[in-house]
Amino acid sequence: MRIVRTDKVRPKKSLGQHFLHDQHIAQRIVDALTLRDQRCAVLEIGPGMGVLTKYLIEKDIQLKLVEIDRDSVAYLHKHYPALGNNLIEGDFLELNSLDFFPNHFSIIGNFPYNISSQIFFKVLENRHQVDQVVCMLQKEVAERMAAKHGNKTYGILSVLLQAYYSIELLFKVPPGVFTPPPNVMSAVIRLERNARQSLECDEQLFVRVVKQGFNNRRKTLRNALKNLNLPAEVVGLKLLDQRAEQLSVDEFINLTRIIEGSRAASSH
Ligand code: SAH
Repeated sequence: MRIVRTDKVRPKKSLGQHFLHDQHIAQRIVDALTLRDQRCAVLEIGPGMGVLTKYLIEKDIQLKLVEIDRDSVAYLHKHYPALGNNLIEGDFLELNSLDFFPNHFSIIGNFPYNISSQIFFKVLENRHQVDQVVCMLQKEVAERMAAKHGNKTYGILSVLLQAYYSIELLFKVPPGVFTPPPNVMSAVIRLERNARQSLECDEQLFVRVVKQGFNNRRKTLRNALKNLNLPAEVVGLKLLDQRAEQLSVDEFINLTRIIEGSRAASSH
């Protein structure tokens, strides 16, 4: 006999809701979390009907969840009453600070694809707390994040994220395991915070150099970075013959240091 569950959440397109129904994949995603300490802290973004939550609560972790959708929140409270106050109804992007955990924590989630880049910019802002992210994303976005220099898909988010995280594409997921199926392939990635405490350069300038470079990705960096009014000795650098996608993360950091150094020298 088929048991018909009538209280399921009706998926809302506007919230990027594609509910995973493959238990094996859900388990694999949760198992991809590297849990170093006992009772380590984990935040799930967008739990929906709890397909990951179900496996997360079996682990010895401190779990918090942020879900924007009232129907999903009601569903979760009904089916997982033990979540209690750890389930926060709200918009992850609007949270002023991620201070519900005292120190470091990991993030997990099958992210709403329409806001995945914004989620990562928020992760970057909070990189001193966020040790690890395991998430499902649109495959193309996942590949871009993990791409290395010299690759066509290497871009702004690849450089900014890889400056602080090592990124591994774990496995791909086909549309058919979701209700409703998305129009795109998905992939699961893991980001782990690297040892870099700081870039040892002006980090705002670093972001500007990376953004300007890739916003004109077909130009050489010499032309792409014109708006930055680089001093003549920097403009002459051989490095600037290249396009943004040819520079490694370390080279972007070095370039920023050189620009910073030459500006400091010329202001004396
Ligand atoms: N984890 C579930 C749902 C994935 S769909 C599963 O795998 O089946 C994405 C989820 O993110 C939905 O539940 C959606 O309501 C939620 N969501 C969308 N935007 C959000 C936001 N800004 N903050 C928190 N949750 C959000």
